Parts: sequence; C-alpha cells; structure tokens
Amino acid sequence: MKRIGETGWIEKEKPKCGPLDALVRPIAISPCSSDVHTVWKGALGNRHDMILGHEAVGEVIEVGEYVRDFRPGDRVVVPAITPDWNSLEAQGGYSMHSGGMLSGWKFSNFKDGVFAECFHVNDADGNMAHLPEGVSPEAAVMLCDMIPTGFHGAELAEVEYGDTVCVIGIGPVGLMSVAGSALRGASRIMAVGSRPDCIKIAGEYGATDIINYRNGSILEQAMKLTENKGVDRVIIAGGDNDTFIDAVKMLKPGGKIGNVNYLGEGEYIRIPRTDWGNGMGHKTIAGGLMPGGRRRVEKLASLIKYGKLDPEKMLTHRFEGFGHIEEALLLMKDKPKDLIKPVVTIK
Ligand code: NDP
Ligand code: ZN
Repeated sequence: MKRIGETGWIEKEKPKCGPLDALVRPIAISPCSSDVHTVWKGALGNRHDMILGHEAVGEVIEVGEYVRDFRPGDRVVVPAITPDWNSLEAQGGYSMHSGGMLSGWKFSNFKDGVFAECFHVNDADGNMAHLPEGVSPEAAVMLCDMIPTGFHGAELAEVEYGDTVCVIGIGPVGLMSVAGSALRGASRIMAVGSRPDCIKIAGEYGATDIINYRNGSILEQAMKLTENKGVDRVIIAGGDNDTFIDAVKMLKPGGKIGNVNYLGEGEYIRIPRTDWGNGMGHKTIAGGLMPGGRRRVEKLASLIKYGKLDPEKMLTHRFEGFGHIEEALLLMKDKPKDLIKPVVTIK
C-alpha cells in the first residue's frame, strides 16, 4: 500500500528477528476483504509504503534464540492475529486485544504484512502453527483468517445442537460460519447472500435454506421460513449497520447474535427497542475479532486433516508466483461474481 487508493511494489529492509521471533518466507498467501478496506476505503487511516496482507502459510527461515518448537525449514500457518501472549489482555482471555482494543491485529496494520519475500512473526512459539502432513498450503491459508473468523461467529452466537441459525453474508467468512454452525450441531441453517457460486457452496457446507437479500427483506423471508417463530442464533458476516435491526427482530428471546462483520461507517448502530424486549429480552449481541494462537489454529487444522472441513471449495482463483499477488488483490477489490477467494502459491 503506497497510500490510500494506491498499491504497487516497493523494496524494504529485511526485518530483524528478535529472540522470541521468527522470519518466514510465504509459500501460499491470500488477499482479504480487510486488505481492500485498508487500501481503498482508508479503514485504518493513511498508511505509507506499508506491506499488505495477513493471510500466509510459509517456510521458517530464521528463529530467535529462545524459540523452542520451530526450526528453519518448518512449514507453518501464521494466523492474521498475532497477540503478545504475556499481555494482561491475553491473561484475561482476550488475546486479540493484547496491547489495546483490536491491537492483536498487527500485520498490515501496526507493522508490515505478509505479501513480502520475508515477514516477521512476534512470539513465534505462540503465533505459528505447524502445517500438518497431508494438508495443502492452499487449504491451510484459509486457517489464517477465514476459518477462525467464520467459526468465531458461531462461537460468539453460541450455536448449539438443534439450533436454527441465520447466517447473514456468505462470502468466505460467512461460508465458514455456515460450516462452523453445522459442525457445532445446528439443524437448520439459513444462509443470506445472492451470488450463485456462494449459494451453491453454502449448501455444500450445510445451509438448509437460502435467503436472497436482493429479493426482499431478510427479516420477512426468515420469519416466513420459520412460520413466524424466528431463529435461535444469528451470525452476521455481511451487510451493514442496519443488519442488526433485522437480526434482533428475527431472534427468539434467549437468542444470540455473533457479529464478525467489519463495520466501517456511521457513528451508531441502532437496536429496535421493543423487539429487544424493552431492554429485557435476553437477546445478546456479541461482536469479535478472530482469536489467533497456535493451539487454536492447530486444532482447526486437524479438522482439515481428518476430512471434517474442506476449505478448498472456496478457492475459485489460483495463481502461481509472487508476481501475481497484486493481481489477486485487485481481483478481491473488483469482486467478480464468480470470485469467493483467490490464492497465490509461491515456490
Ligand atoms: P464478502 O464481501 O466476500 O461477503 C459479504 C457477504 O455479505 C456476501 O455474501 C454478500 O452477498 C453479503 N451482503 C452484502 N450486502 C448485504 C446486505 N445488505 N444484506 C445482507 N447480506 C449482504 O466478505 P468476506 O466474507 O470476505 O468478509 C466478511 C466481513 O468479515 C468483512 O466485513 C470483513 O472485513 C470481515 N472480517 C472480519 C474479521 C474479524 O476478525 N472479525 C476478519 C476477516 C474479515 P452477495 O452474495 O450479494 O455478494
Ligand atoms: Zn483477512
């Protein structure tokens, strides 16, 4: 990112490896909707000559003297969120906010990202996960952000066996919320989107009903599908500030909303008072940044290894070679209808 609205190639010094850190060479990367928000919407404010990207699987090229469990040559998954594990926030269970709200998000935010020949990982033993045998780097790159974020939507909404869940937004994040809800035992999963490819894959990940928000109100369609009973959980992975209005309205008392959508505009989010039980409806709204961490990522990787989850269904555009990163990023910006997620592999 050269400045807001402009990307290009730059030369930078190789980062320095501290005693607890690692340097990694990417072997598979993927651009994210958040990179697009950063460059073209100026979501983080201005940034000059910052290396973009926070989704990479790579090969370790150097480790600091106190790193225990990784060696040069190891293949690793590096999550988008790389907390300081000795922070008070991490001790409190919210590592993604280590050092301040949302500050666990360092790559392409407070420091250079992963679209580079070599990138730096802090707290390497806590922030890198071993790539399991039998899991391809292309599949594994979905473990950096799409799987942990989509699944976090299902965690925040506390999806339980037999729940009826409405997942609003079925880009790659929402698709992983559909898959995560199915794995947590939801019986009925209503997926909200419009692109035919996303709709097809949502069905393969476990959606039982599709709501096309371009064909009328999401709320009316959800209430019709449930014969006015409403839903137990809503996961928000797309839409805008007003999506919360529909979500609160369709939720049963005792229900939970898990938001992982990035809200980039407007000062306030409105909650419909009476539908929120005049403040007494036991309708919980939770929103969160994805948790990183080696333990979590290695567990999620085991879902791929043992055939419970196939993230490669989302990889609609594949490139080979470092030089294609910009093309993949621009594709993410322009979002052609058949795009879900691009991936670039680097030899
Ligand atoms: P996409 O743009 O690929 O998907 C967005 C989805 O929302 C699409 O299915 C789209 O439908 C749907 N949508 C768009 N407008 C509406 C609307 N008005 N009502 C209902 N649905 C709508 O995004 P991603 O899946 O890549 O990312 C989703 C969000 O998650 C982004 O905001 C991203 O920044 C955020 N994010 C959050 C993270 C976290 O840690 N919390 C980490 C990573 C990403 P259609 O089929 O028509 O395109
Ligand atoms: Zn991302």
